[in-house]
Amino acid sequence: MRTLESYVQGVWHAPAPTGTVTHHAVTGEPVSSVSSNGIDFAGTVAYAKEVGGGALGSLTFHERAALLKALGQYLLAEKEGLYNLSTATGATRTDSWIDIEGGAGVLLGYASKGRRELPNSTVLLDGDPEILARDGSFIATHIATPLNGVAVQINAFNFPCWGALEKFAPALLAGVPTIIKPATQTAFLTEAMVRLIVESEILPDGALQLICGDIGDLLGHLGGQDLIGFTGSASTAALLRAHPSVVERSTRFNAEADSLNTAILGHESGPGSPEFELFVAEVVTEMTVKAGQKCTAIRRALVPHRHLEAATAAVAASLDAVRVGDPADPDTRMGALVSKAQRTEVLNAISTLTRSTTVITDSCEFHGVDPDKGAFLAPTLLRSDNPTDPSVHTTEAFGPVSTIMGYTDQADAIHLTSLGGGSLVASVYTADPNEARALTTGISAHHGRVLVVDASISDTSTGHGSPLPNLVHGGPGRAGGGEEMGGLRGIRHHLQTTAVQGSPDMLTAITGEWMPGSARHLDRGHPFKLTFDDLNIGTAIRTDSRTVTLNDIEDFAESTGDHFYAHMDEAAAAASPIFGERVAHGYLVLSLAAGLFVWPDPGPVLANYGIDRCRFAKPTYPGDTLTVFLTCKRKTLRSGAGYGEVAWDAQVLNQNDDVVAAYDVLTLVANHPGVNGVPLNQAEN
Ligand code: NAP
Repeated sequence: MRTLESYVQGVWHAPAPTGTVTHHAVTGEPVSSVSSNGIDFAGTVAYAKEVGGGALGSLTFHERAALLKALGQYLLAEKEGLYNLSTATGATRTDSWIDIEGGAGVLLGYASKGRRELPNSTVLLDGDPEILARDGSFIATHIATPLNGVAVQINAFNFPCWGALEKFAPALLAGVPTIIKPATQTAFLTEAMVRLIVESEILPDGALQLICGDIGDLLGHLGGQDLIGFTGSASTAALLRAHPSVVERSTRFNAEADSLNTAILGHESGPGSPEFELFVAEVVTEMTVKAGQKCTAIRRALVPHRHLEAATAAVAASLDAVRVGDPADPDTRMGALVSKAQRTEVLNAISTLTRSTTVITDSCEFHGVDPDKGAFLAPTLLRSDNPTDPSVHTTEAFGPVSTIMGYTDQADAIHLTSLGGGSLVASVYTADPNEARALTTGISAHHGRVLVVDASISDTSTGHGSPLPNLVHGGPGRAGGGEEMGGLRGIRHHLQTTAVQGSPDMLTAITGEWMPGSARHLDRGHPFKLTFDDLNIGTAIRTDSRTVTLNDIEDFAESTGDHFYAHMDEAAAAASPIFGERVAHGYLVLSLAAGLFVWPDPGPVLANYGIDRCRFAKPTYPGDTLTVFLTCKRKTLRSGAGYGEVAWDAQVLNQNDDVVAAYDVLTLVANHPGVNGVPLNQAEN
């Protein structure tokens, strides 16, 4: 048996020898002693903010993303030690894969999101600027900056690695340090993972601390710059939500609580259809993966009355084929519950459920283990013949337990689903798009995620029970009312959004992004001859001008095949309520603009990789004369690549100075003149 240590204030803290003893889920032997005795909780919070927050706050989003990537790769390289320990939680290798490699995958997923979708900066701009004065001299924009606090995560026992990492990744990317408090029962696995993280020396000091055991007065040291991310039972969530730090000091609080998730079989998805098979397979998977100890597991299976008998028989037959036993045996499909205490809780919930349901199956053979020594429980399928009875919609048996029940029509299926009071996820099995739409929109207000399954995704679906880093995980009402991950949404929970008002020049200086109305610097020659480092925000060019002719329009139509009437048919264009006469193609305007602003010779501009936010504000008629303002708007260095991304604000004006097209031109610009062997003629700068 190991006495677990906490990692606080930069050192491993060994508690006094006695603590809560946890036991091996399979053998019943003692595994760990867990206690937080002697931890200075005030000091732990202060260390996170001062040391961790200081270090993370000075890094850009891209630099933090690089830390996540390195850490994810490190954990994957060291995963086998974690797999070995994970058996003591009752998990099979497949169960542990979700926890261990799934957790590392969240780090890598966020690393990649951070790199692709966030700026290489410490400030995130939120939305477009708002023009507040008619002459454009007074504007506003929203910025998001990291909270000067700590993210305290309090986790459930079922995912000791993933549960910690899925909260840690967005916090770190946002620049906020983390304190992990794992559930006592499986803290030994979280402790082992944190040891790996500390040994890797990838993270700055204070970015991550670990408290094994209870959290003492930790929450009392939190305030308005801090967050609590809780995963666990609804009762603990209710307790923590009422803590004075949340109620009086507005500590941000996010809860992921229990949830009676639903799978709905469509009306036409009867026996023999692919959707029927997929439904049956998913219900069985969700009952047996992690022995049903998943917050997203299917607890309620809804089936049209006419298919109830067939679906019940098919699920029972599939469950019968599931091999239950020693999780270390590769042939085992379902291992043990995490502890005997957990098994007792599940059995209590089953006895509540069986007051209004019929047991379809609740026995099995246990292979290679003594079921009395470990926390083994047979998959248990119940059938409700009175689906509006509240207990099947309110009693969570957090184990391999599900209740199947019939419904009459779509409205009934939607109503029964809503009786769960808010859930994390539901899945709908139908090949009928109308049914998919009616059911999905009917239940979506009660869910954080809906999976719609038909035969076309049978090989590619990630499944009912898998939260993904790029999708929202959470749910309303009983599910806790919280939201995690969801790509950049998960990062925003750790940032403060601030509306900043002022002059365009001030907002350019504050945000590092050129704002409309801000000064343009036209004195640097052609900006395409400047390297990434030499370019300044606001460096601009006003190009020569070019008159658009009817010939230009006809040549463009001929070479591209775009003979849309507004460009080519005099009478039809005259009758158009928008144009009144023939107009230039929008894409011709873009092309002519490029011809005006592009510098032809090899130089630091390596490539144009797209345009963003393109709008054609006014028609361009034959005879109009175009000119372009091209202004360096945003620079994002790609570390180690030798170049960076430069976004240019492009405004195409006609002879009246009306904007006819506005867009961002996206280019890659070398940060030294000779990149890729392309010389830059410095003399021309
Ligand atoms: P739990 O008993 O509520 O415990 C969850 C966490 O809260 C543990 O770390 C626990 O620490 C801690 N805790 C308990 N009482 C506390 C208190 N007074 N102050 C501070 N911390 C406290 O839940 P569980 O039994 O571990 O997990 C199973 C439940 O979690 C199920 O109901 C399941 O549905 C839900 N769950 C939800 C999600 C989701 O994403 N929505 C995911 C997984 C699980 P100790 O272990 O040290 O007591």
